[in-house]
Amino acid sequence: MAEATSNGGATATRKNEDTRSTGGADGSVFEARGLKKDYDEGQVQALRGVDVRIRQGEFVAIIGPSGCGKSTLLQMLGALDLPSGGSLLYRGNSLTELRDPAAYRAREIGFIFQAFHLLPTLTAAENVQIPMFETSRPLAERKSRAVELLKAVGLEQRVGHYPSKLSGGERQRVAIARSLANGPSVLLADEPTGNLDSANAHLILELLVRIQREQQMTMVLVTHDLTIAARASRTIQMKDGQIVADSNPWPLS
Ligand code: ADP
Repeated sequence: MAEATSNGGATATRKNEDTRSTGGADGSVFEARGLKKDYDEGQVQALRGVDVRIRQGEFVAIIGPSGCGKSTLLQMLGALDLPSGGSLLYRGNSLTELRDPAAYRAREIGFIFQAFHLLPTLTAAENVQIPMFETSRPLAERKSRAVELLKAVGLEQRVGHYPSKLSGGERQRVAIARSLANGPSVLLADEPTGNLDSANAHLILELLVRIQREQQMTMVLVTHDLTIAARASRTIQMKDGQIVADSNPWPLS
């Protein structure tokens, strides 16, 4: 199972599973073809035929105006919701036919949200343990791993603090530690700096960039902030539920 190491960085090695080392047959992590998502019985067409392939280890920023479908696309990649049409593969396996979407989310994906989504009645260390409840990891191991992960994001002094006693930047660092709990190979981040002042936004962005590089993770980050997007290796621009520009495209074969 995945373990954290405290090396002054945010290293947490990944699970040694075959699905981790390879992509689909073509090496892709995600492959969407004609991906559609309707809401309100088709009155809202949030995704209107998205075609995209994402490579292992890419840092992809998704940009575009509010309401263009960025978060919806991220939710599809994280199997938080089902598409209305088209196909979506994760390392060659269909995400629409997953037997256990919760297991996929717990094992493969780290989620980071704008609003942190920490549980207020749990300490920082307990919040970090939440995704580990989906695994069979023993309690003592969960606790020690949570502490290691908090150390790795520079919060060793805040292990027993409740979210209300933490600054916004610290809360997001707890959320980042939580996202790494099960050693995911993909990070999905939805406006991760949207609730932070510019100094904290900078710190969080640099932390995410460091984690992504050190662990060679695939990271897909939704943002409206072009300075954040400029740090990505690839920028995908959406408009009206479709991709309208891609700085480093990988066309579907
Ligand atoms: P973005 O992340 O680019 O701001 P979203 O993906 O959140 O855009 O939303 C795309 C469109 O889908 C918007 O018109 C939004 O109002 C609509 N939408 C998103 N989620 C829902 C939902 N659960 N129910 C109904 N409409 C939704």
